[in-house]
Amino acid sequence: MIPESFIQELLARIDIVDVVERYVQLKKAGANYQACCPFHSEKSPSFTVSPSKQFYHCFGCGAHGSAISFVMQYAGLGFIEAVEDLANSLGMPVPREVGAHSQQKARQAPLTERMAQAARFYKDQLKASPVAIEYLKGRGLTGEIAARYGLGYAPDEWQGLQRVFDDYTSPALAECGLVIDNEQGRRYDRFRDRIMFPIQDQRGSVIGFGGRVLGAGEPKYLNSPETPLFHKGEELYGLPQARKEIQQQNMVLVVEGYMDVVGLAQSGVENVVATLGTAATGINIQRLIRLADRVVFCFDRDAAGERAAKRAMEVSLEYLVDGKSIEFLYMDGNQDPDEFVREHGKEAFLRQTLNAARLSDFLVRKLMQESNTHTAEGRARLVSEAKPLLQKISAPVLRVQITKEVAKYAQLSQAELEAQCGLKSLAWNRNAPPPQGRLRPAPNALERTLLMTVLRRPERAARLPLDLIAQDNAEGAALVAVADAIEHAALLSGNLGLLIEYFRGSAHEEIIATISGRIEEDAGDEGEQERVFIDTVERLHEQALHRQIEEMNAKARAGALSTEERQTLARLLSRKRA
Ligand SMILES: [Zn+2]
Repeated sequence: MIPESFIQELLARIDIVDVVERYVQLKKAGANYQACCPFHSEKSPSFTVSPSKQFYHCFGCGAHGSAISFVMQYAGLGFIEAVEDLANSLGMPVPREVGAHSQQKARQAPLTERMAQAARFYKDQLKASPVAIEYLKGRGLTGEIAARYGLGYAPDEWQGLQRVFDDYTSPALAECGLVIDNEQGRRYDRFRDRIMFPIQDQRGSVIGFGGRVLGAGEPKYLNSPETPLFHKGEELYGLPQARKEIQQQNMVLVVEGYMDVVGLAQSGVENVVATLGTAATGINIQRLIRLADRVVFCFDRDAAGERAAKRAMEVSLEYLVDGKSIEFLYMDGNQDPDEFVREHGKEAFLRQTLNAARLSDFLVRKLMQESNTHTAEGRARLVSEAKPLLQKISAPVLRVQITKEVAKYAQLSQAELEAQCGLKSLAWNRNAPPPQGRLRPAPNALERTLLMTVLRRPERAARLPLDLIAQDNAEGAALVAVADAIEHAALLSGNLGLLIEYFRGSAHEEIIATISGRIEEDAGDEGEQERVFIDTVERLHEQALHRQIEEMNAKARAGALSTEERQTLARLLSRKRA
């Protein structure tokens, strides 16, 4: 856990304009900045960044949030990763791992520099190697694509890197995986006579390499080992180059190899990344579904492809979210995506992606392949194969759907299958009250208006009549929480981005995010806003007064009013008339 105070300090020190500008070119427009939205495709700019609110908002697609949410959304990072990324850019150590973290960073800096040097060297070597250039041309690649992906060539020499590094014997070179020390203590280059694919992190720094043999040698692909910089199970090859297109298409294609990524990009299919290593990991999947609503895995139709597909499916089940689509595609005709697109072209490839199987269909199909449902034994086997998979599915609605489908083939009722698999039926969801911890989202007009005006100018919270705000609805409860937070953390005042982050993970997160998403749209001018706020507060007082009078009147009718209470009632009535 990162302490809340650190998040506040970070957001108070960082400027959202600088953060967004790292990725998107902004133009000044009045008090705000504008750009074409990086999260949807558009010609005229509807994406605005407010330096005073420390908040961004797109009028086109509704994307909005703080500097942290921007980095999360743009780079597909998790919350903690995004905080670390921003903190690093300011040189602020993240407190939860003070010692280890700064030591680690200090160690990594020279490694990153060495990887960059090596990448430059390989790139230059490619220019000097007609054989390597011929090889890439033979795969249909142009110089432009080679440059875009920073492709290089590791020369056929045992110690080629000696030409770049004066200190070829330095332990740092082994630490970043560029060289290997053999048992005799002799050191040599890990990559020799290979086409080099630099693997970049989301900021574009080279953290590892994939090397492919030019001819028939083995292994066909050689990767950097795990190093302090490079964690195979976390990275996606080609992400920096694909990011923009992924966001515009709201779809990401995931292939198995570097060559597939580069080959597809060459044919104009640019929303493509590759997982590194043999199969997609949970971290990969989480990252992919943050990047786009539709994730399509493309596999070769061979035994290795089958295994990788099955593994990707199993891992995906745990990270499914209703509303996101994970799909599986086998390329027609035993080709890998690179071969396919070279032979048939971009349009044919894109048509293939339309035939990708939804995860649910893919799962049911796989199960059916493995069991003969014409016999009772086969159907029993189906249930036992299905059980561990159904138990993994994290998206509740999809789980019900898939369970129903499997139940049909198993000739069981949904309830019977759920009982067999130890699944809690989700049928109660329809009528039961919302799960504990969530607030009833009953719309309450006054509280909603107040929350909106307060989020627009958090300092208004100090003028709220807190005792009059009903907290039995999400808006009211959030409003009181916001006022409370502002009273106790002066920093929050005025900084909407900070406020949103403060409530991340709390019961109020959802309503605050929803309302924040709307505040720019029906903004009106500041004077108008202030009038709305004052009117609404006044109406709360009126309502309260009204309630009090009603109560007193009821008591009076029952003849139970004391002299003192009668005087109060008279005073209330005169206040109402005034
Ligand atoms: Zn947008």
